[in-house]
Amino acid sequence: MLISTERPTTFTGLRCRECGADYEPIAQHVCEYCFGPLEVKYDYRAIQRETTRARIQQGPWSMWRYSSFLPVTSAEPVDLGTGMTPLVKADRLARHLGLKNLYIKNDAVNVPTLSFKDRVVSVALTRARELGYTTVACASTGNLANSTAAIAAKLGMECYVFIPADLEVGKILGTLIYGAHVMAVEGNYDQVNRLCSEVADRHGWGFVNINLRPYYSEGSKTLAFEVAEQLGWRLPDQIIAPIASGSLYGKLYKGFREFVEVGLVADAPIKFNGAQALGCSPVAQAFDSGADHIKPVKPDTIAKSLAIGNPADGIYALDIARKTGGQIIAVTDQEILAAMKLLAQTEGIFTETAGGTTLAATIKLAALGHLDPDDVTVVYITGNGLKTLEAIQNHCGQPFSITPDLASFERSLARAQTLDRLDWQSTPV
Ligand SMILES: *Cc1c(COP(=O)(O)O)cnc(C)c1O
Repeated sequence: MLISTERPTTFTGLRCRECGADYEPIAQHVCEYCFGPLEVKYDYRAIQRETTRARIQQGPWSMWRYSSFLPVTSAEPVDLGTGMTPLVKADRLARHLGLKNLYIKNDAVNVPTLSFKDRVVSVALTRARELGYTTVACASTGNLANSTAAIAAKLGMECYVFIPADLEVGKILGTLIYGAHVMAVEGNYDQVNRLCSEVADRHGWGFVNINLRPYYSEGSKTLAFEVAEQLGWRLPDQIIAPIASGSLYGKLYKGFREFVEVGLVADAPIKFNGAQALGCSPVAQAFDSGADHIKPVKPDTIAKSLAIGNPADGIYALDIARKTGGQIIAVTDQEILAAMKLLAQTEGIFTETAGGTTLAATIKLAALGHLDPDDVTVVYITGNGLKTLEAIQNHCGQPFSITPDLASFERSLARAQTLDRLDWQSTPV
């Protein structure tokens, strides 16, 4: 008897975002006619038929409860428990910002590797397995490397990871530990990415963010789906998300629109705000100047996971910000560090520099009056602070060094009580 390992598909192929040319659902990301990006096509009537709130809630406690919206056919996708991260009502933080309905979507605690990239890689490697790949690879600013290496290990796939050589130690060791082959390239991410396009052509590997990019990028939609479900099946009023290539930001928009399209939530406008680090802010600069193209930059910022100088989906991000009434703004490295401390000291969430960027942008938007205090506001925290310890090394003070006797403790206690509390207000960054 033939046992089916496939479920009825709701995705039907690929299509060029620019010229509309149709493609089979293979490993390809660029249109042969116009070089536009390829996107997954779905049969939304079929999704609507097979998807209800109740069926989603009966599904697994992971991002795969939304599998009818994802471009895979396997009945058993790669599920390491990724997704369904906490949506935290951030009241202490909200008071600092003068907001009333503030939520943190906390992917700093996503599994297996503590960033939102576990979502995109789960989809990419499920599809890679369906397409018969045994070797996978990626071009990464750090978190993607960790995710690809970990999930490839779970699948027993060979894995090659290409990173800029100057990444944080935590992200390099956090890739090597899984047995991946790590190529540390003397160059920035945009150079790494170009090299990887050539490697992909020559070696025929499944590059999660190159030839598998149409599938990979769809995984980010689950960050929209979860927020809508966790808010009680409604859309937020405004969101703030980080922008590197612009993929996550664009897919959040697509995810919320799809939930409306199939009737899972009522339609309502959402303002899409984007965050970049000033040292790598090509999309924010274009937004500011009213341009409709992106001028590539050379990155120089502590937010290394966002350091993409030539963002593939930048123009689509611009369009979304403009049509939803959002803003795309840049923040300094100092503001990023201050925001990381503020989040830790108000909400107990330790995020990496990318999360610091997103929160710093939120602080700035609130101060400028761009955020309605009563609106339901969701801040996307996408990565974990333990991976970017270098950034905060000299900005959090020192522990008291004491000897193991009460007198020594009491002397330090007296000093501790006279010092300002080590918090975001009193500690210069
Ligand atoms: C990759 C990454 C992003 C954003 O990525 P996009 O390329 O814009 O999709 C945001 N935060 C963290 C922590 C990341 O690793």
